[in-house]
Amino acid sequence: MEIAFTAKETGIFRKISEAAAGLGVPCYLIGGFVRDKIIGRPTKDADIVCLGDGIELAHAVAAFFDPKPPVAYFKTFGTAQIKLGDFEIEFVGARRESYTHTSRKPEVAPGTLEDDQNRRDFTINALAVSLGKEDFGTLIDPFNGLVDISNQLIQTPLEPLQTFSDDPLRMMRAIRFAGQLQFAIDAKTFAAIKENAHRIRIVSQERITDELNKIMLCEKPSVGWDLLYKSGLLKLVFPQMVDLQGAEYVDGKGHKDNFYHTLQVLDKMSEKTADLWLRWAAVLHDIGKPATKKFEEGHGWTFHGHEVVGAKMVPKIFTRLKLPLNDKMKLVQKLVLLHLRPISLTKENITDSAIRRLLFDAGEDIDALLMLCNSDITSKNEQKVKRYLQNFELVRQRLQEVEENDRIRNWQPPITGELIMQKFGLPPSKPVGIIKDAIREAILDGIIPNEYEAAYAFMLQKASELNLQAVE
Ligand code: ATP
Repeated sequence: MEIAFTAKETGIFRKISEAAAGLGVPCYLIGGFVRDKIIGRPTKDADIVCLGDGIELAHAVAAFFDPKPPVAYFKTFGTAQIKLGDFEIEFVGARRESYTHTSRKPEVAPGTLEDDQNRRDFTINALAVSLGKEDFGTLIDPFNGLVDISNQLIQTPLEPLQTFSDDPLRMMRAIRFAGQLQFAIDAKTFAAIKENAHRIRIVSQERITDELNKIMLCEKPSVGWDLLYKSGLLKLVFPQMVDLQGAEYVDGKGHKDNFYHTLQVLDKMSEKTADLWLRWAAVLHDIGKPATKKFEEGHGWTFHGHEVVGAKMVPKIFTRLKLPLNDKMKLVQKLVLLHLRPISLTKENITDSAIRRLLFDAGEDIDALLMLCNSDITSKNEQKVKRYLQNFELVRQRLQEVEENDRIRNWQPPITGELIMQKFGLPPSKPVGIIKDAIREAILDGIIPNEYEAAYAFMLQKASELNLQAVE
């Protein structure tokens, strides 16, 4: 099989081939780059393994380019990198690995190409292409990775139980590749993941969360989350999500399985946006449901206040998963808190005031909120979905109309606290807050328009109610 390198890649690989021949060191392209080339996925980084010193080879390769690129190298790991524009090439000596039970960091020793291929996680990741002068471009595929690529199958080159026990991060990687490539995981490999799931505890949270985020950014993230659930890994890495699973019945009345509902919402959200944090908001939108679930006689299942409880859980979950506790977390929290608001507006006579309040509370995140709310409409009953979507469209239109009129979305108070203090000779104090809040409420309730003149007159009126005298 010939691998279709671009002309630029061929030029670069020929130079590497020359440099390696000069040193008398056999070298090979290996791993993800080869896999992605065969699949036809876009590639940017290439790994080169050589039977010698990777750092020395990198320096020799750099000398073939004009201008000569800098070589970044890490002596302790024996690795070196060269960047050619946006193409990054990493060089390392072939190695053999052996593991102890308590760590996923192996003992390493120099090895053959075969040793190096044996230490790879999946057959599709163990393919190598020779960059030797004589056999340039020859594929070396000891584990039939090519067949697995065409069968769209993920399996380990060696015994899977051992492979996953050695480095349990590989379990997360298997599931992530299944999601990214839309490949199946071979049954024996998957059984070994189930059996080794408990070993995930020796993997750092950062590495686990890295994989979760990659699963999250897949075209259809539900695939990875579902595999995490079925493998038993999800219970260990994110138990709150597993609590969503299952439908309970009382008096023949059930509720929907909130785990699968959440996955559906996530996939629908992912069709609309590639933003990681909006996708996290979809995963977490109903996370407060298990804690608020009740069966009410004559009413059925309720989850009152789940949006408030869920929003409170967001920082705790972010902390545990070592996701950043920054504005992105705040955005996710806000969307979880507000996710019922747009749809609740369809149930009543929509007043302008309710619309203005939603615009005010959502602010510039109103579009993200509407996206989540739209994705949240799932049901097996197509009529119901159609009706909900129509109602939702009405709310969207009203939001647009009211926003055009009243410009609430990026609301800035027309009267500032400073102006109130100056006008009535006040220090920063309670009455200033009372007047400011009253102006905001009057605007949101439609008592006065969102304009300076009207707000100024309202301020004077409110101040006289508080017996405040203007000082100028
Ligand atoms: P991506 O860049 O999308 O993460 P990749 O396959 O290039 O995919 P890297 O993490 O860059 O993944 O790893 C490069 C190669 O190193 C892999 O293709 C695989 O052969 C090997 N590899 C990486 N991590 C492991 C691991 N934990 N166990 C065994 N082999 C691994």
